[in-house]
Amino acid sequence: MGASLKNRLLGHARFGAHKPKDSKELTARVSYHLSASLVAFVVIGLIALVPWDGANSYLTDMLWRVATPKTALPDIRLVAFDDASAYRYTSVTEGIPAPELVGLSDFLARAQPRAVIFLAPFSTSRYSKTELESLQAAFGKLHHVYLGYTEDEMLGTAAPEPLRAFAFFPAFVSRDHQSYAADAVSRRVMIEIDSVPSVYSVVANDLNSAFGLNRSRYERNGTALQTYIRWQGPPGTYPIGSSRAILDGDISPDEYKDKIVLVGSLRHMNRAHDFAFTPFQGTSIAVPTLEVAAHGLVTLLRDEGIQKTPGWVDLIVAFIVGIITVNLVLLLSPGMGILFLLAAVSALLVTSWLLLHTVGLWVGVSLYIFATVFSYYLVIPFRLVYEYRRRSHYQEKSEWMMQLEQLKSHFLSLISHDLKTPVSTIQGNAEIAMRDAQLPPHLRGVLSAIVQTTEHLSEYVESVLDLTRVESAQVPLQKTTRDINSTIREVVKEKELIAREKNIDVQLRLEPLFSFKYDVRLMKRVLANLLENAIKYCPADSHVLLTSKEQGEFVTVTISDDGPGIAAEERDKIFDKFYRGSSVRDSGVKGSGLGLYLVKYFVELHEGLVKIQSELGKGTAFTVQLPVEGGV
Ligand code: ADP
Repeated sequence: MGASLKNRLLGHARFGAHKPKDSKELTARVSYHLSASLVAFVVIGLIALVPWDGANSYLTDMLWRVATPKTALPDIRLVAFDDASAYRYTSVTEGIPAPELVGLSDFLARAQPRAVIFLAPFSTSRYSKTELESLQAAFGKLHHVYLGYTEDEMLGTAAPEPLRAFAFFPAFVSRDHQSYAADAVSRRVMIEIDSVPSVYSVVANDLNSAFGLNRSRYERNGTALQTYIRWQGPPGTYPIGSSRAILDGDISPDEYKDKIVLVGSLRHMNRAHDFAFTPFQGTSIAVPTLEVAAHGLVTLLRDEGIQKTPGWVDLIVAFIVGIITVNLVLLLSPGMGILFLLAAVSALLVTSWLLLHTVGLWVGVSLYIFATVFSYYLVIPFRLVYEYRRRSHYQEKSEWMMQLEQLKSHFLSLISHDLKTPVSTIQGNAEIAMRDAQLPPHLRGVLSAIVQTTEHLSEYVESVLDLTRVESAQVPLQKTTRDINSTIREVVKEKELIAREKNIDVQLRLEPLFSFKYDVRLMKRVLANLLENAIKYCPADSHVLLTSKEQGEFVTVTISDDGPGIAAEERDKIFDKFYRGSSVRDSGVKGSGLGLYLVKYFVELHEGLVKIQSELGKGTAFTVQLPVEGGV
């Protein structure tokens, strides 16, 4: 199994474009494939019992009609006693008049063909004794002459007395009247009927010593041995010469030298019998039987009759294509499924065409196509059940997830609110206690540690509160018109203490700016987070610079430090929720990993941008760009 097919079976396919995440789902999918394959197997088996001859013949006729390469045998010449020839005689109802046959024989005796086959009734009821004797004399001048009788009732009878010396065999052109497609189309050429060889197989035997060595290739049908005609081209491949033209001297005998000449009847006026239906044309007088006989004769001369695939081969192929279709269509999206179906049907037709025209194999293409189309439709109910189950499974899951999410938000806000009050009480009391001038120094240290820790804690709580608000999309923008420089100054004042502790010089380079509309609380959170980060991550005794300026329709505030910088590969990640830089995680610098996530969220809420410039070992600059549109 190829890697991609394996992936698909394991769920990377577009079966509703999802992956089966758990083994339960995988088992469900495998069981769908197995059960659909089993149903396809059983139904195709049952359907194969239906006779497919009609549909198979219809489709294969179509394959003959589509570009049959011309492979005519140049040695073949056809001569017909036609309507034009019949004008010579006052009343001709059946067969070719004896004087016409005598005339043709004399002409052919001069032409010296390789073989001549006369296709006519040759019964005593048609020709008088004198006529038969004249025929005997005329045929006697020819070297290889064969008499093929065309009437069913003559089967097995001997030739009339004067013609006994000549090869006398049935020359029926078989039509699918009762058996096979039962549509009266001629597709077969007889080799033997009731153990009597047909004139075509006798000629083939005489002219091709290799003919008939492998008789197992031929098909038995009742008492007949037969094969299917390999058409050498569409109708008209073998043009038919009129016996009138020959006897009027319009055609030179040289035309027939060393040829195999088939002589027969072809009369539009009153003998529909002289015409046959073929895979190419099914209209009453489209193709002369004489031409069909030529195709049959050449098929045997070359010994390359078409073979039908045995029923068991058709059944196996139908199973294979059906089961492949079921399983692939289960894996594909509906659109791709239709494409696959069209591609599969076309591939089956093209392959059948190739097999027919190259190796001469007539495959049960209609059964294969039916198996493919049927399997495609069979998949639909299986898909529906599968999709329905999966959907309800996901619905359950997502409802459960929603509940969980709500619970989490409630829990977080509960904790944060409940923590906020006691933490600020502790902080307030510690600050009051520190005001006592007589406080012993060791207690002052303890109290200052309490104040610092509670400050961290309340900031942490504030961040978590912000996060829960952000996640439940409850952060409405409350814009007021203010000068951003004043907000910057307020934030710097708030962070003065921690900057002083590290002896960090916070410098301001603020351009005078117009006021514009922004949410003061949120922007304070943004600037406070950025400034605090700069102070936190900078080494002691360094600098932090805050600048503000107007750039077109934006106001930008940049906070730059001389800190450690941020590695390029981390620059995207630092804005993720709870992400902390790899170097700071174990450094003892406290943090929640929420600061930059909230910064980005709040700035984007203002339709602004956060940009970062950083160089490892040199420092970092965060720039907040806010649109001033709507300012005053
Ligand atoms: P934290 O609570 O860890 O500070 P933030 O979301 O504010 O979380 O920042 C995420 C990470 O970005 C930090 O853990 C740190 O690695 C990196 N970082 C943020 N600001 C700076 C800075 N000014 N200098 C160096 N690294 C910084």
